Amino acid sequence: MEEKQGKPVEPKYVVLLGPPGAGKGTQAARLRENMDLPHIASGDLFREHLKNKTDLGLKANAFMERGELVPDDVTIAMVVDRLSRPDCVRGALLDGFPRTIAQAEALDRALAGDGRKIGVVPCITVPDEVLVERLSDRWLCPICGELYHVLFSPPRQPGVCDNDGGELYQRDDDKPETVRNRLAVYWEQTSPLIDHYTRRGILVEINGDQPIDMVQADLRAAVAGNPG
Ligand code: AMP
Repeated sequence: MEEKQGKPVEPKYVVLLGPPGAGKGTQAARLRENMDLPHIASGDLFREHLKNKTDLGLKANAFMERGELVPDDVTIAMVVDRLSRPDCVRGALLDGFPRTIAQAEALDRALAGDGRKIGVVPCITVPDEVLVERLSDRWLCPICGELYHVLFSPPRQPGVCDNDGGELYQRDDDKPETVRNRLAVYWEQTSPLIDHYTRRGILVEINGDQPIDMVQADLRAAVAGNPG
């Protein structure tokens, strides 16, 4: 365990739960500025593998294109490997993982192996109809990963990233039919995690259908309010 001014600092593992489009990525990026923990987004890890044309990336892409979940064994191995790196000893902000009960159990086992555990699970909730609208008009920067929305958070110059001038693009799986499938998959396979973490007393519901800064304030309070 790390020491800060002579006192041991408990590692902090935060699992951000919520449907696709709830704002997990945007909120995690801001929360990270405040907390200085690695942001581990399973979707980003898969996209990175795909960019590098690894076997794992090509295998995952077939599922991602359909808006389906990548099989648990592949996903768990990838995230557990990431969590075993030295930058995760102080904790991590997990975004998009776990997405199934089997993944949640594997995560517990991986953390418990080193005497670690999840401290808090903020769940960002947003009505489905708002999610479809958000995802369909979402654009990203290929260089820094900044997210924009045509109506709610447009770039200063259309199609160009404010941070670095990158040419914005739309994710293939943000097309309307795939978005609807991703939401159906969320309700079927991921939403049981809400009950799972509620029973453990570590779930905090966050209203994601409010301005970004307000969601962030609620999220910071939820994370700070938990000693784990
Ligand atoms: P995201 O960027 O979190 O929306 O993830 C994009 C896609 O990556 C998902 O639609 C899935 O196909 C895949 N993916 C990301 N995280 C997971 C996970 N924990 N389990 C299975 N598939 C995942």
